Amino acid sequence: MQVFIVGAGPGDPELITVKGQRLLCEADVIIYAGSLVNPALLTLTKSGAEIHNSASMTLPEVIDTISAAVQAGKTVVRLHTGDPSIYGAIQEQMDALQKREIDFEVVPGVSSFLATAAALKQEYTLPEISQTVIITRNEGRTPVPEREKLRSLAAHQSTMCIFLSVHMLAEVVAELVAGGYDKTTPIAVVQKASWPEQKIVRATLETIAECIKDEHIARTAMIVVGRCLDADYALSRLYAPEFSHMYRTASK
Ligand code: SAH
Repeated sequence: MQVFIVGAGPGDPELITVKGQRLLCEADVIIYAGSLVNPALLTLTKSGAEIHNSASMTLPEVIDTISAAVQAGKTVVRLHTGDPSIYGAIQEQMDALQKREIDFEVVPGVSSFLATAAALKQEYTLPEISQTVIITRNEGRTPVPEREKLRSLAAHQSTMCIFLSVHMLAEVVAELVAGGYDKTTPIAVVQKASWPEQKIVRATLETIAECIKDEHIARTAMIVVGRCLDADYALSRLYAPEFSHMYRTASK
């Protein structure tokens, strides 16, 4: 195997997987998503490695670079932020590689919505509050199917992690309220989760605009909405003393 599509994690260089780190150290050619991947990860690369920033490349350029490296017998790491399966635009790369009969492996990563939960010290799936996490985005230059508009998803009142939308926060809040979330629903905005400059703003749908206006958060931020953020939840059955399961019998 010569080509690896690797999730770099949310920012903290220690949050790449052990496997991803090993592949990064060994790679001859690295193509990284320069807009978000922490450049500190690139210090792990071996001397003489060829490093490309995909921010200034087109899809054909990325594929040509990978293809040329493979033909030269080199190994390639295509480094994506977080986990590559989430807003990573990797499908088109994988399909193009398959067309050229270039074999590859995908190595998952810690997505930023998970680093955000860690930053908030929050479980997204609280018993009797929400057992569902919706990963979505507001419509931008990339359209969102009608049935998945924030307004429709809001009807479920589940925990929502909204990517790529902090620059449209007012519109996001308006859609969520129009869709059924009460104005008192808690919301958190986490910028650069796991980076040294991580910033957290907590408010409600009603107050977030005011609370965030002096923070200058225009990008690289996750919006989390849902009652889990302030809930009076039921205790989990998993650790309840009177509850038996496969690995533990109930105490009397
Ligand atoms: N594949 C990535 C997401 C890429 S889309 C992942 O799994 O995390 C880019 C969006 O991800 C940003 O607009 C922002 O909403 C979110 N994001 C990426 N890194 C982040 C971080 N460290 N903290 C908060 N949000 C982040």
